[in-house]
Amino acid sequence: MSKIKIAELFYSIQGEGRYMGVPSVFLRTFGCNFKCAGFGMPKGELSNQANNIDPTKYTTYKDLPLVSTGCDSYASWDPRFKHLSPMLTSDAIVDAIVDALPYKEWREEHLVITGGEPLLGWQKAYPDLLEHPKMQNLKELTFETNGTQLITDEFDEYLFQEWTRYNRDYGSITFSVSPKLSISGEKWEEAIRPEVILQYQLLGNTYLKFVIANKEDAEEAEEAVNAYRRSGFIGHVYVMPCGGTEEVYSMNNRSVAELAMKKGWRYSDRLQIPLFKNAWGT
Ligand code: SF4
Repeated sequence: MSKIKIAELFYSIQGEGRYMGVPSVFLRTFGCNFKCAGFGMPKGELSNQANNIDPTKYTTYKDLPLVSTGCDSYASWDPRFKHLSPMLTSDAIVDAIVDALPYKEWREEHLVITGGEPLLGWQKAYPDLLEHPKMQNLKELTFETNGTQLITDEFDEYLFQEWTRYNRDYGSITFSVSPKLSISGEKWEEAIRPEVILQYQLLGNTYLKFVIANKEDAEEAEEAVNAYRRSGFIGHVYVMPCGGTEEVYSMNNRSVAELAMKKGWRYSDRLQIPLFKNAWGT
């Protein structure tokens, strides 16, 4: 039976993008190919905030400190925190998912597989999970990805057969792609991978989602969108305000909304910040 190392599993409201406001189970897998230590830092500097947290002091995610710079999901990929993320069988994960649902069965809720980077190492385990008898009424599935991982041939075949042909009545799969701009501290050539997005686009609804903190991010997002469009990307573009804290977030949400109007992009809120203060497990 397949196993996946699970950082968090919780039921909440999707705060961003196409499914904003939809009650959703979030399955956060462990591991990421990036660090995104540049978030919230002056240009060229990297955050050390998570590195200063002593992992031995924590036994659960919900007690972990929040960070205002760097990756806000740091414990979902940093090996120093791997003791918080158990390796679970697909049966155990499905039981936990169903237990998190309000009626203990799928109705209108949506499943979000997020990370870390959920398409990094676990693709071979997802068919077992998604084909489990208790998952048959799941109709809508989103992968929240950084858009750098190609789908393996085997997983591509599975998704094509089981999801894109609407075997689940009105089933749909979405790839919510957050390409990392230079504010993240990651290199452009590693972060902006149009050929990857074109593969997702053949399988399901694929959109781009950018966090914008300032004019430079807006210009870079446009440059990235142009690169994706030149390659044949046809999906929507969402822009969202920066800020792991409500204070920072509320400083630029209006200017990001105005940017969306100017460029014909879509504005997305990040409801988890005003609603839940971006806490772990929300
Ligand atoms: S890609 Fe996402 S999970 Fe990975 S380091 Fe960057 S922000 Fe964190």
